[in-house]
Amino acid sequence: MKISFSPPYVDADVEQEVIDALRSGWITTGPKVKALEDEVCNYVGVEAALGVNSATSGMMLALHWFGITRGDEVIIPAYTYAATALAVMHIGAKPIMVDVNEDFNISIEKIEAAITEKTKAIIPVDFSGWPCDYDSINELVNKESVKNKFIAKGENQKKLGRILVMSDAAHSFGAVYKNIRTGILADITVFSFHAVKNLTTAEGGAICLSLPTAFNNLAIYKTLRLWSLNGQTKDAFTKSKAAGGGWKYDIVYPGFKMNLPDVCAAIGLAQIRKYDKLLSERKRVFDFYDESFKNQPWAWLPPYQKNNFSSSYHLYPLRIKNITEEKRDLIIEKITATGVAVNVHFIPLPMLSVFKNAGYNIEDYPSTYKNYAAEISLPIYPQLSIKECNFIVQSVIESVNEVIIL
Ligand SMILES: *Cc1c(COP(=O)(O)O)cnc(C)c1O
Repeated sequence: MKISFSPPYVDADVEQEVIDALRSGWITTGPKVKALEDEVCNYVGVEAALGVNSATSGMMLALHWFGITRGDEVIIPAYTYAATALAVMHIGAKPIMVDVNEDFNISIEKIEAAITEKTKAIIPVDFSGWPCDYDSINELVNKESVKNKFIAKGENQKKLGRILVMSDAAHSFGAVYKNIRTGILADITVFSFHAVKNLTTAEGGAICLSLPTAFNNLAIYKTLRLWSLNGQTKDAFTKSKAAGGGWKYDIVYPGFKMNLPDVCAAIGLAQIRKYDKLLSERKRVFDFYDESFKNQPWAWLPPYQKNNFSSSYHLYPLRIKNITEEKRDLIIEKITATGVAVNVHFIPLPMLSVFKNAGYNIEDYPSTYKNYAAEISLPIYPQLSIKECNFIVQSVIESVNEVIIL
């Protein structure tokens, strides 16, 4: 049996919505993006959400808005996808990597120890769709001693008066923390709609604005929208609709090109309308794995079932107890040979050339390494049938047993 790792969810409604965009005469940023933004706002309960062409872009744009630049530091987990660090580097700042906990998420103690007078932001990452401890992070940035260290530059930093919390929620659309959905747990939350994510537009993302009341989130939405479209006063859609003198525009800010096209947004629009169903199907697979592996002595299950909390079930990060990285790799080889595609989330950033060469050392992140060396991500998506789930479980159990007796 051949089982792929994370195929996109494409049904007749998705196809219809894309065809609708294609036939409408308008395929880039316009009504479909606006409709998707409105759906995101409704789903998450946030005041303003801006569609962008990737989460990476969204994070760059938000950090740039906060005035983060050369010489500044941004704290991130060492255990994440490279984009978290690259977004920081692209705006000239330095990613400060810290270790994670056993649940794969950033350690609050390690964040606190890493804060300096240069720290401008913290980017918690909701690994696999399990929300970070936002109450503790928000409490930490509001602590008097931490606020006193903060050196505000520019209007937005002065107004906030503390470190910005920007959530990398690439995995966690639809996840719940203490009965609250991700998207409003941090000052700013950035979702990814990349092809492998729970909700997809092929490439894309959204910036959710949930800044404190001193800020006008709708006004910031408008600013970021302008900055995502070259800083041009009239976007192409508005120009196309204007009669007569519609061709005139101005560039009022040296903006970026980070807008989301309508033809892409159409995919996500059809998906978000049935997102609760998609989530419950993911949960079905997650629960099946938990049930199937819980009596295996070697299985270290993802610790993701808790009152008032729920994962978005983006990944099923199975870990094998007392295994070495080499033996884990061998297990993956055996599973793959049976036709089941699995993955590892993530190769820790300090183990990747760019970061290794910049001086980051995996030995400084023991918990990150321990999680990585033991981890195998299993396929999890709504389309997986019971038969396929059974096959995956058998393949994993047999492969692990073969390797651990070696
Ligand atoms: C996928 C991913 C990103 C990047 O998302 P893009 O939309 O591809 O830019 C960022 N962070 C994490 C943790 C991711 O998994």
